Amino acid sequence: MNKPVKEKKKITKKHKQIILVTCLIVVITAAISLGLWGGFYYQYGSNLTIESTEAKNIIIMVGDGMGFNHIEAAKIKKKLDSMNMEKLDVHGQIRTRSLSIAPTDSAAAATALATGYKVKNGEIGMTGKKTYENIFEFAKQKGKKVGFVTTTNAYDASIAAFSSHVRDKNMHDEIIKQQIESDIDLIIGIGKDKYEPYADQIETEDRAYCKTLQEIKKAGIQKKKIFAVLDDELTERSENKLKEIVSFAANALENDNNNGYVLLVEGAKIDTYSHQNDIMNMIEELSEFDRAVGHLKERAEGNSDTFMIVTSYYETGDLRIKNIEDATVENMEKENWFHSKKHTRDDVPFFAIGPGSTEIPSNKPLDNTDIFDICKQLIENYASSSS
Ligand SMILES: [Zn+2]
Repeated sequence: MNKPVKEKKKITKKHKQIILVTCLIVVITAAISLGLWGGFYYQYGSNLTIESTEAKNIIIMVGDGMGFNHIEAAKIKKKLDSMNMEKLDVHGQIRTRSLSIAPTDSAAAATALATGYKVKNGEIGMTGKKTYENIFEFAKQKGKKVGFVTTTNAYDASIAAFSSHVRDKNMHDEIIKQQIESDIDLIIGIGKDKYEPYADQIETEDRAYCKTLQEIKKAGIQKKKIFAVLDDELTERSENKLKEIVSFAANALENDNNNGYVLLVEGAKIDTYSHQNDIMNMIEELSEFDRAVGHLKERAEGNSDTFMIVTSYYETGDLRIKNIEDATVENMEKENWFHSKKHTRDDVPFFAIGPGSTEIPSNKPLDNTDIFDICKQLIENYASSSS
């Protein structure tokens, strides 16, 4: 009668040993992974030193969602040997990972470029309770004008990282309040419905609240700052609209200003159409973005005092092209070159021109936080050499 009880005791002991060993394995594995994870994720950035003192103006252009193959697909469709962005002097690639395990989102990616810090997906310009100074705030301290143009809602995460600090990218009202309180000289985007309730706070003695390009052109002469939501003009794609708006933006920031400016331009819908796997519309958006790049490139070439970098927050859609040499528009339409509807971990391209650009190493991938470091050093060097 005692036998089964004895057996039960034996099993229990064995079980205990197994549980102990399993626990040990789990703890050791977790410790190793966390160590590696921590080392991998917290030691980012290339510690670049940029010495140029000549960059008075900084232009950052982001083709959201644009990977290497997005550019190749656009060249196939448009029968081009190269896009304007590829005509910039320095080419390379950047890593896009955030502090989250999943591929980066727009909040973390834009925060990396804007502040030089990696955060978890969803966080904007801060992590936990710690806020990080962004490149616009830094540039303002050095007497520069700052502004952005985006083809999406001006309160979206990607732009919010340059104009606010919030723990969650969906805190749109808080983002808008911080934008209103900020010292940003020029805001051009869309999202009229969200901004309209704040109209009285946006319009000040110094700042014009505008809803058409015509209005901002007029306001540009009368007021120092511009806050514009151009829903009608920016939601409809047209050949040279973005080019015209970025030209206006650069003029407005240059006007009556001896200290230079920082301008961010975001071509946001390359990402939107990549999520939808809509290659034709993606290409049209990328082409419109590239025409704006072409315009600002000519401008940068005309003034030897402008540093410009064109890049992307991440690759969207896992776009792959089979037999790129034989690829045609016909098979682009027949086959789906996208292999995902999400952001991926792929590196993205960057292209740069102007003072400091040749100091950027192009033989190894940069980290997305390096873009902030490069811009910050250029601003700092210019300020200390001209003071
Ligand atoms: Zn996206």
